[in-house]
Amino acid sequence: MFESPRAYHLAVSRVLYHDQMRRILLLFSIVLLAQAAEPDHVERLLAELSEAYGPIGFEGPVRAIMRRELTPYVARFETDGLGSLIAVAPASDAAAPRVMLAAHMDELSLLVKHITPEGFVKFLPVGGWLDLALVNQRFVILTRKGPVTGLCALKTPHIMSSEERSRIPRRDSLFIDVGATSRQDAEERLGIRPGDPIAPQSRFEKLNGGNLYLGKAWDDRAGLAVIVEVMRRLKQAPAPCSVYAVATAQEEVGVRGAKTASYLVKPDIGINLEGGVAADHPGITADEAQERIGGGPGMFLHDSFMLPNVKLRDFILDTAKARGIPVQFEILSGYGEDGAEMQRAYGGAPSINLTVPTRYMHNHNGIISRADFDRTVELVTEVIRRMDSATVKRLKTFD
Ligand SMILES: [Zn+2]
Repeated sequence: MFESPRAYHLAVSRVLYHDQMRRILLLFSIVLLAQAAEPDHVERLLAELSEAYGPIGFEGPVRAIMRRELTPYVARFETDGLGSLIAVAPASDAAAPRVMLAAHMDELSLLVKHITPEGFVKFLPVGGWLDLALVNQRFVILTRKGPVTGLCALKTPHIMSSEERSRIPRRDSLFIDVGATSRQDAEERLGIRPGDPIAPQSRFEKLNGGNLYLGKAWDDRAGLAVIVEVMRRLKQAPAPCSVYAVATAQEEVGVRGAKTASYLVKPDIGINLEGGVAADHPGITADEAQERIGGGPGMFLHDSFMLPNVKLRDFILDTAKARGIPVQFEILSGYGEDGAEMQRAYGGAPSINLTVPTRYMHNHNGIISRADFDRTVELVTEVIRRMDSATVKRLKTFD
């Protein structure tokens, strides 16, 4: 077999060497895999923003995240009288154009209306809820004593007639069970008061190892995360314009914070980030909505509140083409967005609504694509980097 003991030793050490190498390679791949599974800063931010509670008019927790995230990239903060956060990154030239970048902090929510003598919480839905989306879901009541978890109850089918089983319960018949024994228990022990805001509770999840994210409130937390990422990139290579990054309040009840914030910012150009309506699942047609997940950022060409400025639309499309970013279009009638208030503030400003396409908006859970998110960040960053005085003047000029 072996010609000499030396040959034998050589063969054995070769085997041992290969074995050692295999172990090192295995260890190396485990480390790589672990790193791949580890969420990056964008995923962590999206998770935190999605899970944060930001009921309409009570956007404090989301505002705190935005203030923390934007602090390294801006010179100062202001707030409007409704609680919108305005983060300012001024250009070195005081005469540079003012670009307002907005997304809203609030999410569909409820308000405590009254508590029954038995301790069940009756509520008022605020914003565009489906009755169907309310039942048998977990909610959190934000009280002066802290968060209180509750379940929007649904009667068991065991005691329903067949007709009742296929009927959707009306919203005024619904209530939240917080496990209180009486009204007094709910008020005194749990601290629940009429007018307390109630937020949906839903956990963020990376969907089955792909690049889709499952969570609540992508409308419009994805937009807020786009703003953070855009401002981070602009800090590395500043834009030729002053950028006002605005996290607006109370969008879901008629773009209220965008109105008050626009009056403080007085924008020359308005770019709003929103959730787009992804129409790529069963039960929806292209006549109803046109975006799809993974197809790139969306651009609203019509909604019930505004038409975008045509020159701004074309400028963004040219920028996207130059960067190889696909853009999808959205033409809807039943939707209104913050861009409308930027467009109408003072003498009016060329404005547009761009989107991160979102499946199942205005429900407890929705889905977005990380690829769409990244492309939206790239597009918005590039558009802002091109917003010099001459470009803005051209966009604002008619005839
Ligand atoms: Zn929205």
